[in-house]
Amino acid sequence: MKIAVIGTGYVGLVSGTCFSEFGHTVTCVDKDPKKIDALNQNIMPIYEPGLDSMVAKNRAAGRLHFTTDLGTAMKEAEAVFIAVGTPSRRGDGQADLQYVFAAVEEAADHIKDYTVVVTKSTVPVGTGARIKDILSAKLNASLFDVASNPEFLREGAAIEDFMRPNRVVCGADTERAQAVLRELYRPLFLNETPVLFTSRETAEVIKYAANAFLATKISFINEMADLCEKVGADVQEVAKGIGLDTRIGGKFLHAGPGYGGSCFPKDTRALVSTADQHKVPMRIVRSVVEVNEERKRAMADKIIRACGGSVDGKKIAILGLTFKPNTDDMRESPSLDIIPALQAAGASVAAHDPKGMEEARELLENMEFCDDPYDAMTDADALVILTEWNQYRALDLGRVKDLLKAPLLVDLRNIYGRANLADEGFKYVGVGRCPE
Ligand code: NAD
Repeated sequence: MKIAVIGTGYVGLVSGTCFSEFGHTVTCVDKDPKKIDALNQNIMPIYEPGLDSMVAKNRAAGRLHFTTDLGTAMKEAEAVFIAVGTPSRRGDGQADLQYVFAAVEEAADHIKDYTVVVTKSTVPVGTGARIKDILSAKLNASLFDVASNPEFLREGAAIEDFMRPNRVVCGADTERAQAVLRELYRPLFLNETPVLFTSRETAEVIKYAANAFLATKISFINEMADLCEKVGADVQEVAKGIGLDTRIGGKFLHAGPGYGGSCFPKDTRALVSTADQHKVPMRIVRSVVEVNEERKRAMADKIIRACGGSVDGKKIAILGLTFKPNTDDMRESPSLDIIPALQAAGASVAAHDPKGMEEARELLENMEFCDDPYDAMTDADALVILTEWNQYRALDLGRVKDLLKAPLLVDLRNIYGRANLADEGFKYVGVGRCPE
């Protein structure tokens, strides 16, 4: 099949590349010429493990193309996927759909034969219907269908997630559109991936319900961590103890500095906003959002308490800036709240991140970015682990202790154990594992 993908961000680029890996002919379009120029030289605009080699392979096979010209991309395409950003709108937290609607308007001008317009972007329920209205104003109804095919990939494991998903959700109201989507995902039928066909509205809700549920697990375990710290229990053992129950499941039960990234914060806010529009209370998700906002402030306070109640004039070394490992994405990372809060309390900050520093430099001010994690620690009063990158799991603790002014490790991802750190002569502060 021949398809076009609008937007070559984390979702559009990975989806387009993986569709070409399935054997389809894919043209990815972006309005950012720098991204397209780079991609045409096999330079990836994002960090995603395994992506560069898959792009190179499919470009060489003539199945994957990059252009800024939507008309070329859509020529003979049976489906056009919209994978542009849907950031939070200021004020009400609803998803800002301006990029989606702009892409739809542009695509409408190039629809000559029957085409399925598919939203891969995360869009509030009802958006598909609005897209249909936009297209209906310009095109004969027989020329298009609008479908919803939300994406569930995780940054850092995006290719694996796309190639071997837990499920695929296709919201399409006509058999013709369903047939196009079925054909596109046919390679996944071979390994028996569940492909769910639903109404468009149901598919749109599934995406938000999934993200809100995962965010709920995180806020839930973070509140359990607070209780554990007060009563001398260990949240990691609590998570294991509940997670082994298959009705609960062990994933997304890691206590930490709160969820961040380009999806959970904005999607939970957007869901609350949609609920408000429809006068549905949505109390659980509302409090998940509140708990997470509060969490980031609480983590800065935790670091300050660990430093004896003040960080004024102290140097804090931070390891990890991105919201999770294996990505360069800094969007809504907890570091963006925690570091300014420490600076406001008088601390100077030196940080290292394996992939996120280029973007972090644009977002964080008056701090030192170090190419080596050990450089960040030199003469610091405390070492704080914010992101659980693998390379921080096996630090040379003897060297760390020699470099730090005081042997204090605040481990907001619980990657070290209290006992072995105490043996090494550290004061160790984890999350939800011991009284502070
Ligand atoms: P992104 O910001 O990384 O990329 C969006 C791209 O779209 C940009 O390169 C931008 O230049 C391009 N673009 C915008 N308008 C365009 C237009 N009219 N024509 C051509 N290109 C255009 O976004 P992302 O992280 O890939 O997210 C895209 C959507 O997928 C969002 O709705 C997001 O919620 C959803 N989603 C993201 C993830 C994730 O992990 N990032 C996972 C699942 C779903």
